[in-house]
Amino acid sequence: SDAATTIVQHGSTPVSADALIGTKQDLAKQLSTSTNTSDGGIISQLTSNPFFTAGFGLAGLGALAAFGQRGVRRAAGLVRQRLLVDVEISIKDESYGWFLLWMTQHEKRQLMLRTAQGTPKATASTLSLGQRMLQRLTPRMRHLAVETSKLELPNGAITTHTTLIPGPGQHFIHYNGTIIHVNRQREANRTEMLQGGSRPFETTTLTTLYRDRFVFESIFREANQLAVEAVEGKTVIYTARGVTWEKFGHPRQKRPLDSVILEKGVKERIVADIQDFIASHKWYADRGVPYRRGYLLYGPPGTGKSSFIQALAGYLDYGIAIINLSERGLTDDRLNHLLTIIPQRTLVLLEDVDAAYNNRRQKIDSDGYAGANVTFSGLLNALDGVASAEERMLFLTTNHIERLDEALVRPGRVDMTVRLGNATAYQISALWDRFYGDIDADEATKQEKKSLFMTRLVKYGALANLEDHTPSSTSTAALQGLFLYNKGNPDGAIDMVWQLSPGEMPN
Ligand code: ADP
Repeated sequence: SDAATTIVQHGSTPVSADALIGTKQDLAKQLSTSTNTSDGGIISQLTSNPFFTAGFGLAGLGALAAFGQRGVRRAAGLVRQRLLVDVEISIKDESYGWFLLWMTQHEKRQLMLRTAQGTPKATASTLSLGQRMLQRLTPRMRHLAVETSKLELPNGAITTHTTLIPGPGQHFIHYNGTIIHVNRQREANRTEMLQGGSRPFETTTLTTLYRDRFVFESIFREANQLAVEAVEGKTVIYTARGVTWEKFGHPRQKRPLDSVILEKGVKERIVADIQDFIASHKWYADRGVPYRRGYLLYGPPGTGKSSFIQALAGYLDYGIAIINLSERGLTDDRLNHLLTIIPQRTLVLLEDVDAAYNNRRQKIDSDGYAGANVTFSGLLNALDGVASAEERMLFLTTNHIERLDEALVRPGRVDMTVRLGNATAYQISALWDRFYGDIDADEATKQEKKSLFMTRLVKYGALANLEDHTPSSTSTAALQGLFLYNKGNPDGAIDMVWQLSPGEMPN
């Protein structure tokens, strides 16, 4: 801080022009006397000429001023070098987003603190001179940018979520008694290919006093912590956009594996298989076998195929990357490419794989559009893909197993095939317990209500008998719909059983 003060004083001391001219004249005189001896009076004549002396003096003054300016600039540079430290983060670095998020949160907290404490001056006395000088320049965070993300809810509704983040420009933040200058700069004519397309290239530079340099470490630690917390207990979902994977909305709350009720033992079988696979990296590497595993889940809609895969991803602490093969404009090449650049720790879900098989038969639809472009052979190629050491766990789903081809079910493509059918008596009972297990009643009453519901299902023809493995004619989704409608009201559900009847509605 002392050096900073010196510079300011130095800069503010006016340099006297007379003094400078005086110096220059002395110099010229000395010059003239030394040359005088050898070479008669020309110089002496010149120096006695007031116009010449004035011109010479002015030139000298200019030179000195330029010298002085350069000096001040160099000194300022030196001060910067000695007293300030900066850290530059580029948009390419993963911490870029973390930092902006951290800064937003930090400012929010500061604002709350300020409103709680009344005056911001409270901390001023604890700041050093240098810090106070920086603070002078401190406007509050004024440039904000809006970041909007779209999130599709399981029921198909779209919600948007907006976050305010520091916009491009200069900001100052107070942090642990220090002041940090933040400069977020965008380069207009340079774009960067990032996951999810191109964006203008940017960097953010943080500057603080040299003696406060240690705060950077703690800021980045906090920012990282924040980023980890944002996804902790959440499942990151990726969707294909163009030729890249893009995070889809904000990470979703993990779906508990218990909340998906499959036929007895089915869940356990898949979980055990995939856990064994995850633990077998070395086995595959030693034998030179591509480290990949494929699962095919099939059955009618609403039987929990997607829900199970999402819950499984959460359980394993993996993300999930989703492609729907019936999506228009998805070509063989794109699919192939996407499967080679799967984000780390991610399960891949290929929905509606039968779409690829439709395309084999029918290339052009009624409006002359070639339909979804993934073909049967394109899908097989993408599954076989270039073998890499990266792990790949692929889940394929279809509502129409009959449309698929034998060629798909081959080790390395699909290693395990699982049918998820309509709810069995076992599943109905388990789902009932999940929805009505905690109602305020004694155990006997609870059991009684459940068995009333089950026997009514039989009565209305939705279920043949009460044996565990007997399938019903209703999907788990439909059952869940009924229970949701009668939330906390088992009697209501019992009264509405007839709605699940496969036949005509009773009068
Ligand atoms: P699918 O992928 O088989 O068409 P989804 O997983 O999309 O079915 O399920 C649709 C809805 O029904 C979801 O809200 C899900 O919670 C519910 N659901 C379906 N099957 C089950 C199940 N086996 N256990 C719990 N919930 C289920």
